[in-house]
Amino acid sequence: MKLIADLHTHTVACGHGFSTVQENVFAAQKAGLSVLGITEHGPSIPGGPHHYLMGAMLQIPPEVENLWILRGAELNIINTSGELDLDRDRMSRLDIVLAAIHPGTPYDGKSKEEHTQALCAAMENPYLDILAHPDNPGYPLDYKTIVRKAIAEGILLEVNNNSMNTAHPGRKNGMDNCRAFLEIGKKEGLQVAIGSDAHISFSVGKMEKAIKLLEETGYPEELILNRSRETIEEFLEERKKRIHKKLKTL
Ligand SMILES: [Zn+2]
Ligand SMILES: [Zn+2]
Repeated sequence: MKLIADLHTHTVACGHGFSTVQENVFAAQKAGLSVLGITEHGPSIPGGPHHYLMGAMLQIPPEVENLWILRGAELNIINTSGELDLDRDRMSRLDIVLAAIHPGTPYDGKSKEEHTQALCAAMENPYLDILAHPDNPGYPLDYKTIVRKAIAEGILLEVNNNSMNTAHPGRKNGMDNCRAFLEIGKKEGLQVAIGSDAHISFSVGKMEKAIKLLEETGYPEELILNRSRETIEEFLEERKKRIHKKLKTL
């Protein structure tokens, strides 16, 4: 399986990354990618950027030497009502929005039920596109409920390569949890997105573990967002319609 996009990367601007935009762009080009998502952490991550950074993301050019750049964020879900840590005006200016629960943020849900409720509520946000690393064993989820809600809301679940890195201290069962939601997702028709979650340029485009898992589970290629530039263009067109529709019901 060949993927042409890495949809989840960070730079030094996120507060705990090590490479610049330029270094990540070079790394993506070297890896043969044609789309790169730069998705900086939301303001409530420890040591994270001020919300001004989110407003400044569009200073990054959308295209650099045939590499299409999606200027986005990985926001924090900060309570069990699914609230995200950025105002909707700034969110509306981003190309793509990921969200996740992260340790060290104000999020205080305690149980599987509360985490599931938080993510389901977050998925109702018109601007949210992808739930990042829903495999995190620190925040167990009812995957059947999550997958069904994601499909209903037009949201994707991420297969996060970093979660399957055995050196990652916080995601010991990342692979098993990914497998669990992929098994449900392939039966229900869930679209998924793949990201390296690189915090340094050397990891940009590194998605081998995620690809291996998708192959092992026999995940249908037509449900994988990163497979072509056209698929991503179609997704972004649908995204506009989804946002428009959801804003009308608010
Ligand atoms: Zn994250
Ligand atoms: Zn990340």
